[in-house]
Amino acid sequence: MSNIRSAVLASGNVGKLRELRELLKGQLRLIDMRELALVAAEETGSSFEENARLKAFAAARQSGLPALSDDSGLEVDALAGAPGIYSSRYAGDEGNARANIRKLLEDLEGVPAGNRTARFRCVLVLAAPDNEHAPLIAEGVWEGRIAEREEGRGGFGYDPVFLDGRTGQCAALMSAGEKGRRSHRGRAARKLTRLLGLQGAAAG
Ligand code: IMP
Repeated sequence: MSNIRSAVLASGNVGKLRELRELLKGQLRLIDMRELALVAAEETGSSFEENARLKAFAAARQSGLPALSDDSGLEVDALAGAPGIYSSRYAGDEGNARANIRKLLEDLEGVPAGNRTARFRCVLVLAAPDNEHAPLIAEGVWEGRIAEREEGRGGFGYDPVFLDGRTGQCAALMSAGEKGRRSHRGRAARKLTRLLGLQGAAAG
């Protein structure tokens, strides 16, 4: 794995592709899976890591290339950790961010600010196309809380209702650089970069 310089991203989510390309710039070049006409794996796992493994291995097998996957989502304490691994289809349709946000705000109606704590979680898996190498796995968490109403137009998914736990700033109002410094995906990407570097050092 130490000499991997590019990988196919096992995701059709353009928000993830944009963020990961920026976060892994100079480390890992990401190929859009739609350019290779790959079929997305079904997310039948019961954890972020299981789903990330399923997606990475399916893309690596189909393409014959190293594959990176990102399984991520939002865990809301007042909803016992929901929507969790079902974040992209919380309101029913896959990837309908507006409907997901509407449902989330409805479900949290009347919940006071102090009880609206939540976190984004992201698990990245980098899988080789052969069975000789174990996958690299990196996880990142971003603590925050859910706003009472939407703000901003940046980012994707639940960003317009996610407030950074430390500053209270809305994720959809952050620049890409600011979001990457604080976010679950940014943290996971920095861990993955370290793992790739450690492997390179061990091999060299
Ligand atoms: P997945 O494709 O099953 O990993 O779905 C991830 C879902 O989690 C996305 O569709 C979003 O709804 C949500 N999500 C993950 N990361 C973020 C983020 O950085 N901002 C906002 N929503 C996110």
